[in-house]
Amino acid sequence: MIDYHIHSNFSSDSTMDMDSACKRAIALGLTEIAFTDHIDIDYPDPIYTFQLNIPEYLEAIERAQHLNRDIKIRKGIEVGIQPHVLDDTLDLIKDYTFDFVIASVHGVNGEDLFNGEYFRSRTTDRAYEDFFRELLAMVEKFSVFNVIGHLDSVALYNPQPLVYNHCCDELLDRLLMLLISRGKGLEINTSGYRRQPKGPIPSLDIIKRYHRLGGEIITMGSDAHRLQHIGFKFEPIFEKLKEMGIKYITTFEEMKPKQVPIP
Ligand SMILES: [Zn+2]
Ligand SMILES: [Zn+2]
Repeated sequence: MIDYHIHSNFSSDSTMDMDSACKRAIALGLTEIAFTDHIDIDYPDPIYTFQLNIPEYLEAIERAQHLNRDIKIRKGIEVGIQPHVLDDTLDLIKDYTFDFVIASVHGVNGEDLFNGEYFRSRTTDRAYEDFFRELLAMVEKFSVFNVIGHLDSVALYNPQPLVYNHCCDELLDRLLMLLISRGKGLEINTSGYRRQPKGPIPSLDIIKRYHRLGGEIITMGSDAHRLQHIGFKFEPIFEKLKEMGIKYITTFEEMKPKQVPIP
């Protein structure tokens, strides 16, 4: 088992120390993890600042690697993307070597998804349309990432439970085909089991769409901010992926993908 979305206390919304996270992952039988702490420039909700001291962070991961030889520990980050921060984000990370970069949308049009602000003035269809449109425009310009994190942030953060309602399939397919043509993937984020919609994010429907269009890069991430969430709810997903004909998940070393058979 491999968990490619873990937040240590280098993220301002987590208190989990790296060494404990590694020990927990080893105890669960995981063979590989990636720390993916937040870099989120100009995060829409001023309560949070998601800044990262990258040199200290990378050193801490190297220390954890040294102390925990029974597991592969990758140097990842989760960058929060918004149209006006793409250049600054690239400037901030370009001089460092990461194994794996998740690009995630936590705000659209300057409005926060997590605190619900974004949803107050939008119908579900409009929420999807604005979200996919902004993400599509960003993927056209920004390429320093491996997977889109929790694609379908609309379902993840919506105050009301919902699943993607196919309102914007044409737009979604354009986005998926652009990702595929650029060699980019999707993560399956299991934090949706703990929040909304009590299932994976994105829905396996969207993963199936990506796969049918030729997409082959899929990572698994618990988005753990606590020890008990590491590797959370992976087994049921693996079964469903196999039923869909998906045989591999992807790992990364210095941004290069490797396909690993699903257990
Ligand atoms: Zn995220
Ligand atoms: Zn995250």
